[in-house]
Amino acid sequence: MTAGLDRGFTPPEPEETFAEAFDVLPMDTLLERSRTAGREAVDLALDRAAGRPLGLEAFATLLSPAGGERLEELAAASRALTLARFGRTMHMYAPLYLSNECLTTCVYCGFARELPIARKTLSADETMAEARHLLRDGFRSILLLTGEHRRLTGVEFLEERIRALALEVPSISIEVQVWSEDEYRRLAEAGCDGVVIYQETYHPDTYAQVHLAGKKRQYEWRLVGPERAARAGMRRVGIGALLGLHDDWRYEAIATAAHARFLMKRYWRTQVTVSVPRMRPSAAGWQPRTAVSDRDLAQLVCALRLALPDTGLVISGRETPALRDGLFGIGITHTSAGSHAEPGGYEHPKEATEQFEVADLRSPEEVAGRLRELGYEPVWEDWGAVLPATERMLVGEPAS
Ligand code: SF4
Repeated sequence: MTAGLDRGFTPPEPEETFAEAFDVLPMDTLLERSRTAGREAVDLALDRAAGRPLGLEAFATLLSPAGGERLEELAAASRALTLARFGRTMHMYAPLYLSNECLTTCVYCGFARELPIARKTLSADETMAEARHLLRDGFRSILLLTGEHRRLTGVEFLEERIRALALEVPSISIEVQVWSEDEYRRLAEAGCDGVVIYQETYHPDTYAQVHLAGKKRQYEWRLVGPERAARAGMRRVGIGALLGLHDDWRYEAIATAAHARFLMKRYWRTQVTVSVPRMRPSAAGWQPRTAVSDRDLAQLVCALRLALPDTGLVISGRETPALRDGLFGIGITHTSAGSHAEPGGYEHPKEATEQFEVADLRSPEEVAGRLRELGYEPVWEDWGAVLPATERMLVGEPAS
């Protein structure tokens, strides 16, 4: 079992954290550009995109309403770049919820502390049963999720579950409460090789308004979480904003792209992925502050690809089959399939409450079949196992 990338290597202390870099990012200027850029500026950005990755100014330009009018051109450029960098492959993963217990109040989440939902934390045996279900479906890459409950789903709980799963599951990532660097190191040593931390919203005031109680109220601790995970030796770090929390999706887009660029520059041994989740209905009954349309989402995916050519872009089962099928062809490289968003949901659906309503209800087999019809090969294995030996040597891993 590979427990992470070259555990002997610890990146030097960064000169600054992303929290510090974000503080001095000219957000007002970039936002203004994303709202008002004209046709000529979009032309220029599209021309530039043909030759090299876009800077943040050009990225903001492509997010503009004028950029949205050129969606077909954006999609063609994004598709060509994705095929050139990733080929016709789609990385498959599955979420496995270990628990929906939570001591935190996020106003938008179906697991929030006060909600009278059916709670459940999987036993060791139930965890293995869920994982084996996913292995039988073909998955080799599993994302473990929990709410925030220090006692029920703390580091010891996660270590124990990861150790047991690592004997059978080739690639394990976590999307759980955020931890210190030492705690991430313990989880990496147990067999975890990826960490996903959505900032939810990069806008500090909005963040304070939607995270009312619990550990997650600490905006900056969360913001710098991906850096702690990378420094602890995690092979993959995923970031993203939950679109619809803040009233301007372009703000979230610019912040997310800046965050990804920061991480890729400082932690070049860590693979960075970016997700573009939109709000979905849940037991919380929360309504998004702004509607992010399907076209907005497609525009965002294309602009991210042109600014971050080598970054994995992730789409989950939050989106409908028709939209997901369209996005597969213009920039997405990683997808879940057949997902359940409740603990125990693969073996015993609906016994516990789900975090949000899944929109793509197709089975993994159906999604894989559709991908093949679209000309893509589903890749189920951990990337480390399929990377050519020479590339693995280049990134510091033994070739065999
Ligand atoms: S988003 Fe996470 S921390 Fe917030 S209520 Fe939901 S499970 Fe708990």
